[in-house]
Amino acid sequence: MSSSGYDPKLTPHVALLPSAGMGHLTPFIRLAVLLTTSNVRVTFITPYPTVSLSESQSLSHLFSTFPRITRKQLHLLPLEDPSAKSEDPFYYHFEVIRHSSHLLSPLLSSLSPPLSALITDMSLASTVIPITDALQLPNYIFFTSSAKMLTLFLSFHIMVDPRDRCETSEMKDFIKIAGLEPIPRSWIPPPLLQDTKNLLKSYFIENGKKMTESSGILVNTNETVDGESLEALSKGKVLRGLPPVHAIGPLPPFNLEQSQPLAWLDDQPPGSVLYVSFGSRTAISREQIRELGDGLVRSGKRFLWVVKDKKVDKEDSLELMDMMGQQLMERMKEKGFVVKNWLNQEEVLSHAAVGGFLSHSGWNSITEALWHGVPMLLWPQHGDQKINAELVERIGVGMWVKSWGWCGEAMVVKGEEIAETVGELLGNQFMRSRAAKVRNEVRMAVDEGGSSYKRLADLIESWKGLV
Ligand code: UDP
Ligand code: UDP
Repeated sequence: MSSSGYDPKLTPHVALLPSAGMGHLTPFIRLAVLLTTSNVRVTFITPYPTVSLSESQSLSHLFSTFPRITRKQLHLLPLEDPSAKSEDPFYYHFEVIRHSSHLLSPLLSSLSPPLSALITDMSLASTVIPITDALQLPNYIFFTSSAKMLTLFLSFHIMVDPRDRCETSEMKDFIKIAGLEPIPRSWIPPPLLQDTKNLLKSYFIENGKKMTESSGILVNTNETVDGESLEALSKGKVLRGLPPVHAIGPLPPFNLEQSQPLAWLDDQPPGSVLYVSFGSRTAISREQIRELGDGLVRSGKRFLWVVKDKKVDKEDSLELMDMMGQQLMERMKEKGFVVKNWLNQEEVLSHAAVGGFLSHSGWNSITEALWHGVPMLLWPQHGDQKINAELVERIGVGMWVKSWGWCGEAMVVKGEEIAETVGELLGNQFMRSRAAKVRNEVRMAVDEGGSSYKRLADLIESWKGLV
């Protein structure tokens, strides 16, 4: 028995270290909850400060709901060169956390009882693995996107040439990942294809390379959505000598917030409402916002729309009226409900009135929609989102109009086209029944005895007595 009364042979102690942005924090929170309710002692390390208000609020909810999770703050040091901040405040914050990683060493070794393992976000792999190696501490990387994206992340550093240029034969019109169908070049995040240095590209190259030295890779997915990639990864087709890849998802949503009940949704007929959201960090152009508003009205369908005008919530201060104009606001009132504040998406997607989700294809949004059986209209905006969208389309739970632009391309999709597509989604009975079937499948995977459940249980077992 340790001095705390825990027997490390029965109760492993695991620390979790997430990275910046809700898309990275949310799955770590879900994992922490799952572990703490599975008799694992959890220390949650929070890089401080966070970029967004929603991150700090989610963390407060976590620690007040689960006082037995130990909170440790990693006080971040300022970066000397803040010029890269303009590229993307979240990617920049990955760099800030990486730059402060050395502070982890004393923090980790001071924890009592000693740790069985550290679970780190993929964006921190290359700076954290040397630290855990020095402490002889097993290090697991939690990859917070799809397994398909993981195959690109792990292979990218091999595809680029020695000067990190993207002109190799593996990267012409299609990106060739060993053991998998080639991916169209147009689905790859554009910063990765630039010849110049940028944060996203160096983050892929450095972390993708180093991740192969971790003790294991956790992914928030399962065979229903990501079967092809998981098989290729586990059979060593993507890369030889990979550590084990554990598909443990989709991690069940965990309702931490006590948000106000959406009275408006309660008044709508079952399956009638399109929920529209582009996630926590994607701002759409003003012109596109107005066309989208026009399209939603023209569709004649009911809709609930969470609008974002800035990537970082703290900076999002403009009034809805100023963004939309009075005329559009009036037209939208008839069948729509538009907000600018954070809504608890889990609550929205679980509501019986919601019959479709217009989503930017962020991986968490997708796993949540699958969990609740909501068909999707996928409109990828950047990063991993085209690769994610295709997975959903392939299993028959989403529509993706590939001609709609992304990454700030100078194009605006017109209201008429949006209206028509929204009508198609909400009228698609086949997709609705597919979504219900997939919902059952993904829930079975994480229920006791399911594939994801078993993998997490095996991992927990392997951590026992590791200290
Ligand atoms: N989210 C939410 N309310 C909002 C916007 C986002 O609850 O108004 C949550 C959403 O449920 C998801 C996360 O924030 O869990 C966003 O992650 P995702 O991977 O979908 O996209 P990202 O925001 O990283 O682009
Ligand atoms: N964008 C965004 N949130 C993000 C990333 C991108 O809103 O987290 C939008 C933003 O409008 C940005 C555009 O997408 O200008 C392109 O971003 P990306 O990082 O893909 O860079 P690019 O391909 O233009 O270099």
